[in-house]
Amino acid sequence: PLNMAEQEASAADATFPWSKSNLPKQLFINNEFVAAKSTKKLEVYNPKDGSLLANDVALAGEQDVDAAVAAAEAAFPAWRKTPATKKRDLLLKLADLIDRYTPNLAELTRISMGAPFSSIGAFETGGSAEAFRYFAGWCDKFAGETYPQDDGFLKIVQNEPLGVTVGITPWNGPTAVAAFKAAPALATGNCFILKPSEKTPFSSLALATLVKEAGFPPGVFQVLTGDGTTGALLATHMKVRKISFTGSTATGRKIQEMAAKSNLKRVTLELGGKSPAVVFDDANLENAITWCVRAICLNTGQVCVAASRVYVQEGIYDKFLEGYKKAMEEQGKTIGDPDAAETQMGPIVDKAQFDRVSGFLERGRSQGTLLTGGSRVGDQGYFVQPTVFTDVPEDAEICKKEIFGPVSILNKFKTEEEIIAKANDTNYGLMAGVFTQDINRAMRVSSELDSGMVGVNCMSLTFLTAPFGGTKESGTGRENAIHVLRTYTEPKTIMVNLTY
Ligand code: NAD
Repeated sequence: PLNMAEQEASAADATFPWSKSNLPKQLFINNEFVAAKSTKKLEVYNPKDGSLLANDVALAGEQDVDAAVAAAEAAFPAWRKTPATKKRDLLLKLADLIDRYTPNLAELTRISMGAPFSSIGAFETGGSAEAFRYFAGWCDKFAGETYPQDDGFLKIVQNEPLGVTVGITPWNGPTAVAAFKAAPALATGNCFILKPSEKTPFSSLALATLVKEAGFPPGVFQVLTGDGTTGALLATHMKVRKISFTGSTATGRKIQEMAAKSNLKRVTLELGGKSPAVVFDDANLENAITWCVRAICLNTGQVCVAASRVYVQEGIYDKFLEGYKKAMEEQGKTIGDPDAAETQMGPIVDKAQFDRVSGFLERGRSQGTLLTGGSRVGDQGYFVQPTVFTDVPEDAEICKKEIFGPVSILNKFKTEEEIIAKANDTNYGLMAGVFTQDINRAMRVSSELDSGMVGVNCMSLTFLTAPFGGTKESGTGRENAIHVLRTYTEPKTIMVNLTY
């Protein structure tokens, strides 16, 4: 929870043009908010009570997509040649503006997603400012390299931007995920089009206002609100050179197919997970419980790296169960109105996701033993209790499928060998946690886990300074650090004949 000083800082700035009573609803093309040519509209709801926030948010169609791509193409030649120091200053300015308007942006996210300011709201928006700041630092540090002339040829490698790049984002982190994609794209000299989730379009549009205020030239950063049809128009577009996608595995698969069938545009996919937490007998119990609870309750379990499978060694199992149950129930007490300062856990994002999670809760009762939770909270909005099922067979649906809610399974294991096999027996490979005080075991097990990221005595963290992404059906490519810069550039090799 926030302290008093931070709560005071959470007041919205009245100079910001957008608010709950003046929502941005148009497309942002060529540095202007414009009406869509398409007459179709999006409906957006507030998950705390199911009320309609707007039924007239632009849904970009083919002409709108073509207009944004054309503007990006026109802006690209000058933008790629813009001095690195100038790009850096623009990104830093944008980060400062996001900081200044964090409560405003967080409110626009909160009304459509239900993220309380004191837990996820400020963190999510502040995280986007940090991303722009971090990648500002890379603007002049990723130009390329040279290779030796020992064979008579000097090899100069230039990291060149791709051109028109696109980020298709989910609803569970509308500003942070947008920034994780836009910041490295812009820092490496690409133009970027953001296609936010139809469930949470407002903060993405509001971000565009700050991009313009920061001084970015027209066409460099644009926002096309829309649904999957808009995403598909971008994924099939012959002039789009790269799609960076975060969302479901099913959609990620379609995007890769569309890229392959159109112009072989580059694709980065950040998809789902079913991340295991493995707690050994010698683990610090309190620490393990803290992380396992945090990693399934943060953002009401709507995070790709949620600790949704918890495996505990038999010697510590009963004690862990007792503490974990209690801590999950404590978390349940922080559920409430996302607009209230004391609330830690908000609702599930919308009716469709709520019904999906409720289906898992219902069916889970016959797949395992309900330890705690399992029900809706209140009778309006989409709130659910933190829920744990125990003794779940490894092939049960709730053990295999991503639920995307505050729902975990808790199972017992005996040996290291057994648990490595179980932890890896999933189509996903995003995050894992190993809890032990034996450094050799920690390193041994971390190496054996088939996962893009492994936490030792922690889990489900993101660092801008380290690669983020998964193996298997959790995706392809990496975000953050130098690794994401490689996905927004092509290394061009220039060979100079020095013997001529
Ligand atoms: P989704 O994959 O359908 O949507 C994500 C984004 O893709 C949205 O912007 C959407 O408009 C766009 N999209 C949808 N269909 C498209 C298509 N055919 N072509 C191009 N773009 C398309 O995800 P969702 O429906 O919002 O959520 C469903 C499930 O996805 C969740 O239950 C969860 O399991 C998973 N999910 C995972 C993450 C993550 O961070 N890994 C985030 C959100 C959702």
